[in-house]
Amino acid sequence: MSAAFPLFLTLTGQTVLIVGGGELALRKARLVAGDGGDGRGAHLVVVAPEVHPDLATLAAEVRRRPFAAYDLDGVTLVFAAGEDEDEAAGVADLARARGLLVNVPDRPALSTFIMPAIVDRGPITVAISTGGTSPVLARRLRARIEAALEPGLGRLATFLDGFRTAVRAVKSDETARRRFWERVIDGPVAQRFLAGDEAGAHEQLVKILNAGDAGDAIEGGSVALVGAGPGDPDLLTLRALRVLQNADVVVHDKLVDDRILDYVRRDARRVYVGKSKSCHTVSQDEINALLVREAQAGHRVVRLKGGDPFIFGRGGEEMAVLRAAGVAVELVPGITAAVGCAAATGIPLTHRGLAQGITLVTAHGANAGGGSAEPALDWTALARLDHTLAVYMGLSKAGLVAERLIAAGKAPGTPVAVVQNGTRPDQTLAVGRLADLGALAASLTGPALILVGEVVTLADPSKIATDVFTTLSSTPGRLGDTTLGSGLKAAV
Ligand code: SAH
Repeated sequence: MSAAFPLFLTLTGQTVLIVGGGELALRKARLVAGDGGDGRGAHLVVVAPEVHPDLATLAAEVRRRPFAAYDLDGVTLVFAAGEDEDEAAGVADLARARGLLVNVPDRPALSTFIMPAIVDRGPITVAISTGGTSPVLARRLRARIEAALEPGLGRLATFLDGFRTAVRAVKSDETARRRFWERVIDGPVAQRFLAGDEAGAHEQLVKILNAGDAGDAIEGGSVALVGAGPGDPDLLTLRALRVLQNADVVVHDKLVDDRILDYVRRDARRVYVGKSKSCHTVSQDEINALLVREAQAGHRVVRLKGGDPFIFGRGGEEMAVLRAAGVAVELVPGITAAVGCAAATGIPLTHRGLAQGITLVTAHGANAGGGSAEPALDWTALARLDHTLAVYMGLSKAGLVAERLIAAGKAPGTPVAVVQNGTRPDQTLAVGRLADLGALAASLTGPALILVGEVVTLADPSKIATDVFTTLSSTPGRLGDTTLGSGLKAAV
């Protein structure tokens, strides 16, 4: 089936014909009538020998007799909704021959239009179509959208509509106008309205409007430091999504998935600043300067970062620079790689009896960009802690990390996992022992997260791509006193 073309029809003053007088016809009549009777202003005609009393009430005109071809005269839209399938097909043929829009319930092949699943927040209508592939899926989608849209949204739309002329008069510039409406919809005006305080919402809106251009200037630009999560777009927060969709400029890293950038408004400017390990396309100083400059030019800037901005993301540094420059900063947290990778591999980061805590470290040297620097970590403390250890930016130093931990007293047989491209479709999970960590990481190119600790034994076996235990099982002695849990034991 080719994809349907979505449109919303204005039926005011148009004649809608329903052929059929039973339940099916009644359901279509209710849709045409809309909430509260003649909501859509259509002239509804029903033709059928017998007509359901509720249907008769909704109709403007009832013809109690069989359908005749001339019933189609002057009609815009036809529902062939009778019980008799052959008759319905005949009505549809006639209607199509006359170029009318016709629907036969549940028979898309005979119809020139199909009815979408609808979420009604009059005057806001959301129509959903799966192109006829799955009505059940359409209903599930409708349920999700129903849940996401506040019940008062329709009234809010009507309320805002009441100010349109005034706003147009005060703000002639289109960008300023869009900004104004976004501020109203994202800010306290909509909040108050949806909370039931219509008077307060009114007052606040008028206040912002009267502040005029001064209001714009006072508000100025801003920067949101936004965590994009580990990759899977579903792991964005609702706030990240909202902020992204309102951004004028989006400054992003290599780690941010393209599917997340699809949420950015089309007319927003995207600035790629690279930042893959050891080949920074743009220096941190240049990024800082760029953020300040764009915000001071009055733009709403989103600085989009992989994972969480405050975890090995230099979010703290950017925040400090922006604050010092007097730029308003908002922080939107994201799911950090350790949390995302853990969920995507079934490795609980803490687990009773296996790990009493979690420690996040980076194996990257203190001098940023210097790949050879020794990580400034307290290995003795890390080896002693009964924690799951998550090592960020550790791929090129995996062997060194293992060596240092073992030298500091960590058991060489401690289970380890390396999760590459965690939460993405191309995720890979390699498991083994601390002594094998270097070898495990050698073939990977990242981004990858190293997890060290007994909890690795709980990994979902179906997610494991490489298992050093299996490859090494012919080497007696190395697998001696295993403390592994069921997941890895099964693999051994
Ligand atoms: N702020 C980010 C971390 C940036 S440092 C966060 O909170 O996740 C970059 C490192 O994060 C990478 O070297 C890798 O160790 C880790 N990382 C980021 N995304 C990852 C992913 N999808 N899978 C595995 N590791 C990831």
